[in-house]
Amino acid sequence: MTLDLETCRRAPKALLHDHLDGGLRPATIIELADATGYADLPSTDVDELGRWFAEAADSGSLVRYLETFAHTVGVLQTEAALHRVARECAEDLAADGVVYAEVRMAPELCTSQGLALEQVVEAMLAGFAEGERVTAERGTPIVMRLLLTAMRTAARSSEIAELVVRYRDAGVVGFDIAGAEEGYPPTRHLDAFEYLRRENAHFTIHAGEAFGLPSIWEALQWCGAERLGHGVRIMDDITIDERGRAHLGLLAAYVRDRRVPLEMCPSSNVQTGAARSIEEHPIGLLRTLGFRVTVNTDNRLMSGTSLSREMHLLSGAFGYGLADLQWLTVNAMKSAFIPFDQRLRIINEVIKPGYAALALADLTMG
Ligand SMILES: [Zn+2]
Repeated sequence: MTLDLETCRRAPKALLHDHLDGGLRPATIIELADATGYADLPSTDVDELGRWFAEAADSGSLVRYLETFAHTVGVLQTEAALHRVARECAEDLAADGVVYAEVRMAPELCTSQGLALEQVVEAMLAGFAEGERVTAERGTPIVMRLLLTAMRTAARSSEIAELVVRYRDAGVVGFDIAGAEEGYPPTRHLDAFEYLRRENAHFTIHAGEAFGLPSIWEALQWCGAERLGHGVRIMDDITIDERGRAHLGLLAAYVRDRRVPLEMCPSSNVQTGAARSIEEHPIGLLRTLGFRVTVNTDNRLMSGTSLSREMHLLSGAFGYGLADLQWLTVNAMKSAFIPFDQRLRIINEVIKPGYAALALADLTMG
């Protein structure tokens, strides 16, 4: 039986892979464009703009998909805009039942009107803090943490890595590289990763989304990534024999056996062609094989999605019930970059009681 969307929304969830510039509210984009003099929006009607984003993301054209970010990034060039979007991100995630989120952003994209990288980071952190405050007052508390992303096609990764270390006690919990994967291997940014390792800092790497096993191998074995953004192409190292048994290659076995978390984003993976459909998404098999899989949103605006919706879709495709949602959520929480005692507290005091209450409600509803 498929869990309905409302049940998925009420279930406590943890989110590790969500881009701040992929989650703006259409109405906010229009207001910010107006306030900051950004004149390139394809529409200034809220519904039409929302549809435009969804259609561009669904078009199968990478060019159109990337064009969507030109607009969201275009309105994220002031401290006020960054603060507001970060606060609204916390509010929207909390309303969706997310209790812990690591949201990422590339500060270098927000400096075209003169903001310093530090101003960008501080505005986002202040927005998250305010979002935590207002959602706690509403009775739907969320813990918001920031990951700083460097663009893999650019050359500022060492600078961004230094920011991660500088702001580690202020809400920044990790580092990431994102952007075009093919032709831009993670080892291009080896200096940044080696610096972070020497500083005992955490990082994840977008790998195995558009490009295959070499990208995953470099991310893990050369760069030392703790988690993989997407990682769907690990499937290339798994073969199924004629009797239906799965055989893991050395890299796939390493990922599973070392419990490397995979930040999977079902709808986004289908839109970018990394998976054929939700029903055929590798998460089904990888979960059965015992990989440390987690469910994420990637870009809520472009994919017209939420974490509840992703869970709902997976429930429809693979028959996941509340116990599966709890397993996926605990997987994510175990893989978070905050300290171990804080992770345990959220698992034991928020996630497990939340699912127990839902299961009980399910029983009494008959
Ligand atoms: Zn991503």
